[in-house]
Amino acid sequence: MIAEGRGLPLEDFRPASMLRVARTPIAVPRFPVIDFHTHLTWSPGLEPGETIQVIAGGSELLPTMDAKRVRIMVNLTGGYGDGLRDALRVHPQAHPGRFLTFTEPWWSRVAESGCAQFQADEVERAHRAGARGLKVLKILGLFAREHGNSGSLIAVDDPRFDPMWEVAGALGMPVVIHVSDPRAFFLPVDSSNERWEELHAHPDWSFHGPEFPGNLELQEARRRVIERHPRTQFVCAHVADAEDLAYVSECLDAHPNMHVDISARIGELGRQPRTSRRFFDLYQDRILFGTDAIPGGVEYPQQVFGEELYEIYYRFLETEDEYFDYAPASVPPQGRWRIYGIGLPDGVLRKVYWANAARLLGLDESPPE
Ligand SMILES: [Zn+2]
Repeated sequence: MIAEGRGLPLEDFRPASMLRVARTPIAVPRFPVIDFHTHLTWSPGLEPGETIQVIAGGSELLPTMDAKRVRIMVNLTGGYGDGLRDALRVHPQAHPGRFLTFTEPWWSRVAESGCAQFQADEVERAHRAGARGLKVLKILGLFAREHGNSGSLIAVDDPRFDPMWEVAGALGMPVVIHVSDPRAFFLPVDSSNERWEELHAHPDWSFHGPEFPGNLELQEARRRVIERHPRTQFVCAHVADAEDLAYVSECLDAHPNMHVDISARIGELGRQPRTSRRFFDLYQDRILFGTDAIPGGVEYPQQVFGEELYEIYYRFLETEDEYFDYAPASVPPQGRWRIYGIGLPDGVLRKVYWANAARLLGLDESPPE
Protein backbone atom coordinates (compact mmCIF):
# COMPACT_ATOMS: atom_id res chain seq x y z
CA MET A 1 0.00 0.00 0.00
CA ILE A 2 1.27 3.41 -0.91
CA ALA A 3 0.40 6.18 1.50
CA GLU A 4 -1.11 9.02 -0.50
CA GLY A 5 0.19 12.54 -0.50
CA ARG A 6 3.51 11.81 1.13
CA GLY A 7 6.58 13.32 -0.48
CA LEU A 8 9.87 11.48 -0.69
CA PRO A 9 12.95 13.63 -0.01
CA LEU A 10 15.18 13.60 -3.09
CA GLU A 11 18.22 12.53 -1.10
CA ASP A 12 16.36 9.39 0.03
CA PHE A 13 15.46 8.35 -3.51
CA ARG A 14 17.84 5.56 -4.53
CA PRO A 15 16.14 3.76 -7.41
CA ALA A 16 17.63 0.37 -8.27
CA SER A 17 17.56 -0.30 -12.00
CA MET A 18 15.56 -3.39 -12.92
CA LEU A 19 17.13 -3.58 -16.38
CA ARG A 20 18.89 -6.81 -17.18
CA VAL A 21 21.58 -5.68 -19.63
CA ALA A 22 25.12 -6.68 -20.56
CA ARG A 23 27.87 -5.83 -18.12
CA THR A 24 31.31 -5.82 -19.72
CA PRO A 25 33.98 -4.88 -17.19
CA ILE A 26 37.18 -3.52 -18.75
CA ALA A 27 39.94 -4.07 -16.22
CA VAL A 28 42.72 -3.15 -18.63
CA PRO A 29 42.37 -0.85 -21.66
CA ARG A 30 43.22 -2.04 -25.15
CA PHE A 31 46.19 0.36 -25.41
CA PRO A 32 48.50 2.10 -22.94
CA VAL A 33 47.09 5.36 -21.63
CA ILE A 34 48.24 8.91 -21.07
CA ASP A 35 45.95 10.54 -18.51
CA PHE A 36 46.25 14.10 -19.75
CA HIS A 37 44.24 15.75 -16.98
CA THR A 38 45.06 15.07 -13.32
CA HIS A 39 45.74 17.11 -10.19
CA LEU A 40 48.58 15.70 -8.10
CA THR A 41 49.66 19.01 -6.58
CA TRP A 42 47.69 22.15 -5.84
CA SER A 43 48.85 25.76 -5.69
CA PRO A 44 47.22 28.50 -3.66
CA GLY A 45 45.49 30.12 -6.62
CA LEU A 46 44.65 33.74 -6.10
CA GLU A 47 46.66 34.14 -2.92
CA PRO A 48 50.24 35.34 -3.14
CA GLY A 49 52.91 32.81 -2.28
CA GLU A 50 54.81 30.05 -3.90
CA THR A 51 54.11 27.03 -1.70
CA ILE A 52 52.51 24.00 -3.26
CA GLN A 53 50.51 21.22 -1.67
CA VAL A 54 51.52 17.72 -2.75
CA ILE A 55 48.28 15.73 -2.86
CA ALA A 56 50.00 12.38 -3.50
CA GLY A 57 53.55 11.34 -4.27
CA GLY A 58 54.47 9.11 -7.19
CA SER A 59 54.91 5.88 -5.25
CA GLU A 60 51.33 6.15 -3.92
CA LEU A 61 50.04 6.40 -7.50
CA LEU A 62 52.14 3.90 -9.43
CA PRO A 63 50.39 0.67 -8.29
CA THR A 64 47.02 1.92 -9.60
CA MET A 65 48.65 3.31 -12.74
CA ASP A 66 50.35 -0.01 -13.47
CA ALA A 67 47.19 -2.03 -12.76
CA LYS A 68 45.18 0.16 -15.15
CA ARG A 69 47.86 0.51 -17.85
CA VAL A 70 48.28 4.26 -17.27
CA ARG A 71 51.84 4.85 -18.42
CA ILE A 72 51.90 8.63 -17.93
CA MET A 73 49.95 11.01 -15.73
CA VAL A 74 49.98 14.70 -16.58
CA ASN A 75 49.77 16.83 -13.45
CA LEU A 76 48.26 20.07 -14.67
CA THR A 77 48.38 22.10 -11.47
CA GLY A 78 52.12 22.27 -10.95
CA GLY A 79 52.05 25.92 -9.90
CA TYR A 80 54.91 28.29 -10.52
CA GLY A 81 58.18 29.51 -9.04
CA ASP A 82 59.38 27.54 -6.04
CA GLY A 83 56.11 25.59 -5.97
CA LEU A 84 56.73 24.34 -9.48
CA ARG A 85 60.24 23.30 -8.51
CA ASP A 86 58.78 21.14 -5.71
CA ALA A 87 56.09 19.71 -8.01
CA LEU A 88 58.72 18.73 -10.58
CA ARG A 89 60.89 17.11 -7.93
CA VAL A 90 58.17 14.96 -6.42
CA HIS A 91 56.80 13.48 -9.67
CA PRO A 92 58.76 13.65 -12.96
CA GLN A 93 62.20 13.84 -11.39
CA ALA A 94 61.50 11.08 -8.85
CA HIS A 95 59.84 8.81 -11.44
CA PRO A 96 61.20 9.60 -14.91
CA GLY A 97 58.90 8.78 -17.80
CA ARG A 98 55.79 8.31 -15.65
CA PHE A 99 54.73 11.87 -14.82
CA LEU A 100 54.72 15.22 -16.63
CA THR A 101 54.01 18.52 -14.94
CA PHE A 102 52.46 21.72 -16.25
CA THR A 103 52.97 25.24 -14.94
CA GLU A 104 50.32 27.89 -14.25
CA PRO A 105 50.12 31.68 -14.49
CA TRP A 106 50.86 33.67 -11.31
CA TRP A 107 47.27 34.72 -10.65
CA SER A 108 48.30 36.88 -7.71
CA ARG A 109 50.32 39.09 -10.04
CA VAL A 110 48.03 39.47 -13.04
CA ALA A 111 47.11 43.04 -12.10
CA GLU A 112 50.68 44.30 -11.68
CA SER A 113 52.23 46.56 -14.27
CA GLY A 114 54.54 44.68 -16.61
CA CYS A 115 52.51 41.56 -15.97
CA ALA A 116 52.25 40.67 -19.66
CA GLN A 117 55.98 40.22 -20.10
CA PHE A 118 56.37 38.77 -16.61
CA GLN A 119 53.90 35.92 -17.27
CA ALA A 120 55.57 35.17 -20.61
CA ASP A 121 59.04 35.16 -19.03
CA GLU A 122 57.84 32.89 -16.24
CA VAL A 123 56.45 30.36 -18.71
CA GLU A 124 59.85 30.29 -20.39
CA ARG A 125 61.58 29.86 -17.03
CA ALA A 126 59.15 27.06 -16.12
CA HIS A 127 59.91 25.36 -19.43
CA ARG A 128 63.64 25.44 -18.68
CA ALA A 129 62.93 23.97 -15.25
CA GLY A 130 61.05 21.06 -16.86
CA ALA A 131 57.39 22.07 -17.18
CA ARG A 132 55.80 20.54 -20.30
CA GLY A 133 52.73 22.70 -20.73
CA LEU A 134 50.61 25.52 -19.32
CA LYS A 135 47.34 25.08 -17.42
CA VAL A 136 44.76 27.81 -17.06
CA LEU A 137 42.05 27.15 -14.48
CA LYS A 138 38.57 28.66 -14.66
CA ILE A 139 39.94 31.29 -12.29
CA LEU A 140 40.42 33.26 -15.51
CA GLY A 141 37.04 34.62 -16.49
CA LEU A 142 35.23 33.80 -13.25
CA PHE A 143 37.43 34.84 -10.31
CA ALA A 144 40.61 36.75 -11.24
CA ARG A 145 39.99 40.46 -10.78
CA GLU A 146 41.98 43.60 -11.39
CA HIS A 147 42.89 43.96 -7.71
CA GLY A 148 43.05 40.37 -6.54
CA ASN A 149 39.59 39.72 -5.12
CA SER A 150 38.16 43.13 -6.02
CA GLY A 151 37.78 45.25 -9.13
CA SER A 152 36.42 44.09 -12.44
CA LEU A 153 36.85 40.56 -13.74
CA ILE A 154 39.78 40.05 -16.09
CA ALA A 155 38.53 38.80 -19.44
CA VAL A 156 39.67 35.46 -20.85
CA ASP A 157 40.85 37.25 -24.00
CA ASP A 158 42.55 40.13 -22.18
CA PRO A 159 45.45 41.16 -24.44
CA ARG A 160 47.82 41.20 -21.45
CA PHE A 161 47.99 37.41 -21.78
CA ASP A 162 48.91 37.47 -25.46
CA PRO A 163 52.69 37.21 -24.88
CA MET A 164 52.09 34.24 -22.55
CA TRP A 165 49.97 32.34 -25.11
CA GLU A 166 52.56 33.08 -27.79
CA VAL A 167 55.55 31.92 -25.78
CA ALA A 168 53.80 28.66 -24.87
CA GLY A 169 53.25 28.01 -28.57
CA ALA A 170 56.81 28.91 -29.50
CA LEU A 171 58.17 26.50 -26.87
CA GLY A 172 55.88 23.65 -27.93
CA MET A 173 54.00 23.73 -24.64
CA PRO A 174 50.33 22.78 -25.04
CA VAL A 175 47.90 25.01 -23.14
CA VAL A 176 45.14 23.24 -21.22
CA ILE A 177 42.46 25.82 -20.70
CA HIS A 178 39.34 25.47 -18.58
CA VAL A 179 36.84 28.21 -19.21
CA SER A 180 33.22 28.31 -18.06
CA ASP A 181 31.48 25.19 -16.65
CA PRO A 182 28.30 23.14 -17.20
CA ARG A 183 25.48 25.33 -18.48
CA ALA A 184 23.32 24.57 -15.47
CA PHE A 185 25.88 26.29 -13.21
CA PHE A 186 24.91 29.59 -14.84
CA LEU A 187 21.17 29.12 -14.35
CA PRO A 188 18.99 29.67 -11.27
CA VAL A 189 19.35 26.82 -8.76
CA ASP A 190 15.67 25.97 -8.77
CA SER A 191 13.57 22.84 -9.25
CA SER A 192 14.23 22.82 -13.01
CA ASN A 193 18.02 22.80 -12.63
CA GLU A 194 19.28 19.34 -13.60
CA ARG A 195 22.32 19.75 -11.34
CA TRP A 196 20.33 20.86 -8.28
CA GLU A 197 21.92 18.27 -5.97
CA GLU A 198 25.45 18.96 -7.21
CA LEU A 199 25.00 22.70 -6.77
CA HIS A 200 23.64 22.19 -3.27
CA ALA A 201 26.66 20.04 -2.43
CA HIS A 202 28.97 22.75 -3.87
CA PRO A 203 27.18 26.12 -3.65
CA ASP A 204 30.34 27.93 -4.76
CA TRP A 205 30.04 26.27 -8.17
CA SER A 206 26.98 28.36 -9.04
CA PHE A 207 27.82 31.26 -11.35
CA HIS A 208 24.28 32.52 -11.68
CA GLY A 209 23.87 36.24 -11.24
CA PRO A 210 24.88 39.61 -12.62
CA GLU A 211 28.41 39.41 -11.19
CA PHE A 212 29.32 36.60 -13.61
CA PRO A 213 29.59 36.53 -17.39
CA GLY A 214 27.37 34.09 -19.23
CA ASN A 215 28.54 30.65 -20.26
CA LEU A 216 28.60 31.36 -24.00
CA GLU A 217 30.27 34.73 -23.42
CA LEU A 218 33.17 32.93 -21.71
CA GLN A 219 33.40 30.30 -24.41
CA GLU A 220 33.44 32.89 -27.18
CA ALA A 221 36.28 34.75 -25.41
CA ARG A 222 38.25 31.49 -25.27
CA ARG A 223 37.55 31.05 -28.95
CA ARG A 224 39.01 34.48 -29.74
CA VAL A 225 42.20 33.54 -27.86
CA ILE A 226 42.53 30.30 -29.85
CA GLU A 227 41.97 32.20 -33.09
CA ARG A 228 44.50 34.90 -32.21
CA HIS A 229 47.29 32.38 -31.50
CA PRO A 230 47.18 29.81 -34.30
CA ARG A 231 50.66 28.45 -33.54
CA THR A 232 49.71 27.60 -29.94
CA GLN A 233 48.02 24.26 -29.31
CA PHE A 234 45.02 24.64 -26.99
CA VAL A 235 43.38 21.71 -25.22
CA CYS A 236 39.97 22.77 -23.97
CA ALA A 237 39.38 20.85 -20.76
CA HIS A 238 36.15 18.92 -20.17
CA VAL A 239 35.17 18.72 -23.87
CA ALA A 240 35.37 22.53 -24.01
CA ASP A 241 32.84 22.56 -21.22
CA ALA A 242 29.90 22.47 -23.50
CA GLU A 243 27.12 19.95 -23.40
CA ASP A 244 26.46 21.33 -26.87
CA LEU A 245 28.62 19.17 -29.14
CA ALA A 246 27.36 21.03 -32.21
CA TYR A 247 28.95 24.20 -30.85
CA VAL A 248 32.18 22.40 -29.92
CA SER A 249 32.28 20.87 -33.41
CA GLU A 250 31.84 24.29 -34.99
CA CYS A 251 34.82 25.57 -32.95
CA LEU A 252 36.97 22.54 -33.81
CA ASP A 253 36.15 22.98 -37.51
CA ALA A 254 37.16 26.63 -37.41
CA HIS A 255 40.32 26.27 -35.31
CA PRO A 256 42.77 23.49 -36.20
CA ASN A 257 44.86 24.33 -33.09
CA MET A 258 41.97 23.42 -30.77
CA HIS A 259 41.69 20.05 -29.03
CA VAL A 260 39.53 18.73 -26.19
CA ASP A 261 40.02 16.39 -23.26
CA ILE A 262 37.13 14.26 -22.01
CA SER A 263 37.89 14.61 -18.29
CA ALA A 264 34.93 14.72 -15.88
CA ARG A 265 32.48 14.78 -18.80
CA ILE A 266 31.70 11.15 -19.61
CA GLY A 267 28.47 11.89 -17.74
CA GLU A 268 27.64 14.29 -20.58
CA LEU A 269 29.10 12.29 -23.47
CA GLY A 270 27.58 9.05 -22.24
CA ARG A 271 24.00 10.31 -22.11
CA GLN A 272 24.15 11.25 -25.81
CA PRO A 273 25.99 8.14 -27.04
CA ARG A 274 25.08 8.35 -30.72
CA THR A 275 26.07 12.01 -31.03
CA SER A 276 29.23 11.28 -29.03
CA ARG A 277 30.17 8.36 -31.23
CA ARG A 278 29.92 10.58 -34.33
CA PHE A 279 31.92 13.28 -32.54
CA PHE A 280 34.72 10.81 -31.78
CA ASP A 281 34.73 9.61 -35.39
CA LEU A 282 34.98 13.13 -36.77
CA TYR A 283 37.51 14.52 -34.29
CA GLN A 284 39.48 11.36 -33.49
CA ASP A 285 42.78 13.22 -33.95
CA ARG A 286 41.90 15.97 -31.47
CA ILE A 287 40.29 14.22 -28.48
CA LEU A 288 42.49 13.36 -25.49
CA PHE A 289 41.90 10.92 -22.67
CA GLY A 290 41.81 12.53 -19.22
CA THR A 291 39.99 11.90 -15.96
CA ASP A 292 40.49 15.03 -13.81
CA ALA A 293 41.60 12.55 -11.14
CA ILE A 294 42.44 13.86 -7.68
CA PRO A 295 43.94 11.33 -5.24
CA GLY A 296 41.62 11.13 -2.24
CA GLY A 297 39.17 13.62 -3.76
CA VAL A 298 36.16 12.15 -1.98
CA GLU A 299 34.12 15.33 -2.29
CA TYR A 300 34.06 14.83 -6.05
CA PRO A 301 33.17 11.17 -6.70
CA GLN A 302 33.56 11.63 -10.46
CA GLN A 303 37.22 12.53 -9.87
CA VAL A 304 38.45 10.16 -7.16
CA PHE A 305 41.70 8.66 -8.37
CA GLY A 306 41.50 4.87 -8.23
CA GLU A 307 41.02 1.70 -10.23
CA GLU A 308 37.24 2.07 -10.31
CA LEU A 309 37.43 5.48 -11.97
CA TYR A 310 39.61 4.19 -14.81
CA GLU A 311 37.40 1.13 -15.28
CA ILE A 312 34.36 3.38 -15.82
CA TYR A 313 36.16 5.45 -18.47
CA TYR A 314 37.40 2.33 -20.27
CA ARG A 315 33.92 0.80 -20.21
CA PHE A 316 32.44 3.97 -21.68
CA LEU A 317 35.01 4.15 -24.48
CA GLU A 318 35.38 0.46 -25.32
CA THR A 319 31.98 -1.21 -24.80
CA GLU A 320 28.40 -0.75 -25.89
CA ASP A 321 27.08 -1.46 -22.40
CA GLU A 322 23.91 0.39 -21.50
CA TYR A 323 22.75 2.41 -18.54
CA PHE A 324 25.64 2.31 -16.10
CA ASP A 325 27.06 4.74 -13.55
CA TYR A 326 29.48 7.41 -14.75
CA ALA A 327 31.08 7.79 -11.31
CA PRO A 328 31.86 5.49 -8.39
CA ALA A 329 29.04 6.78 -6.15
CA SER A 330 25.67 5.56 -4.88
CA VAL A 331 23.94 8.71 -6.21
CA PRO A 332 25.20 10.04 -9.57
CA PRO A 333 27.07 13.16 -8.43
CA GLN A 334 26.67 15.43 -11.47
CA GLY A 335 23.03 14.69 -12.14
CA ARG A 336 20.60 11.77 -11.81
CA TRP A 337 21.16 9.94 -15.03
CA ARG A 338 23.25 7.01 -16.28
CA ILE A 339 25.34 6.52 -19.39
CA TYR A 340 25.85 4.29 -22.43
CA GLY A 341 29.14 3.05 -23.89
CA ILE A 342 30.22 4.15 -27.36
CA GLY A 343 32.28 1.10 -28.38
CA LEU A 344 35.12 2.86 -30.21
CA PRO A 345 37.19 0.88 -32.73
CA ASP A 346 40.89 0.21 -32.11
CA GLY A 347 42.13 2.89 -34.50
CA VAL A 348 40.27 5.62 -32.59
CA LEU A 349 41.06 4.22 -29.15
CA ARG A 350 44.78 4.21 -29.89
CA LYS A 351 44.63 7.93 -30.76
CA VAL A 352 42.46 8.95 -27.83
CA TYR A 353 44.34 6.91 -25.22
CA TRP A 354 47.82 7.73 -26.46
CA ALA A 355 48.77 9.20 -29.83
CA ASN A 356 46.98 12.56 -29.68
CA ALA A 357 48.45 13.44 -26.28
CA ALA A 358 51.87 12.09 -27.28
CA ARG A 359 51.95 14.32 -30.34
CA LEU A 360 51.17 17.45 -28.31
CA LEU A 361 53.74 16.52 -25.67
CA GLY A 362 56.48 15.73 -28.18
CA LEU A 363 56.55 12.00 -27.30
CA ASP A 364 56.61 8.95 -29.54
CA GLU A 365 53.13 8.59 -31.03
CA SER A 366 53.30 4.80 -31.05
CA PRO A 367 52.15 3.53 -27.68
CA PRO A 368 54.68 1.44 -25.76
CA GLU A 369 53.94 -2.22 -25.09
ZN1 LIG B 1 40.84 19.64 -13.55
